[in-house]
Amino acid sequence: MGFDLHGLNPVNPHNVEKPIHNWHQEHTHKENEIYFEKLGAYEVAVVGAHWCTNNWRWRPLWAFVFQACVDFMNTKDLQEGMDNSGYKISKTKANKIAKRLNDLDKDGSIVQYQNEYTKRLATLPLEKCSFCKGTGIRLDPIGMELREKDPNFKCNICHGKGEVTDISTHYPFSYREVLSFKEFCENSGGFKIC
Ligand SMILES: [Zn+2]
Repeated sequence: MGFDLHGLNPVNPHNVEKPIHNWHQEHTHKENEIYFEKLGAYEVAVVGAHWCTNNWRWRPLWAFVFQACVDFMNTKDLQEGMDNSGYKISKTKANKIAKRLNDLDKDGSIVQYQNEYTKRLATLPLEKCSFCKGTGIRLDPIGMELREKDPNFKCNICHGKGEVTDISTHYPFSYREVLSFKEFCENSGGFKIC
């Protein structure tokens, strides 16, 4: 699952036209190709038009943004921003977020946060694999079925170790991604989170 952010009124310095494609009509392969090429060029020229990331990366990023902007963001922004419900962030708020991230970038806070975050994840102890109950051998119906096909099958989740990394390690935080989001944010004219 991913998160797509769409600028509500993105800055378009060179007035690049957004390509239109009617998906209800049949198109040749070539027509589709041309459309995606134009769309790609549009998104490069209009950085506030569209920004996307996956679920695992978005959650820690948005939580960081909320924490950094808690003086003007509310818990509704935090919570609804974690759904793919089309929640809108106004232009005023988007600009304030961008400005705050800019300040935090300048004083090194974002890099510091990333380093501490990554370090914390690396020190989390391993957890018992719930699929094989820590034994390294999956005995549930799925495990039995897979072992019938392959007698050497153990557990496809922990690969026979009986332990897995903490769930939090699936949610990385990246300084580079915050910068890319900041650039989108300040050029978006407000945005919708889908
Ligand atoms: Zn396991």
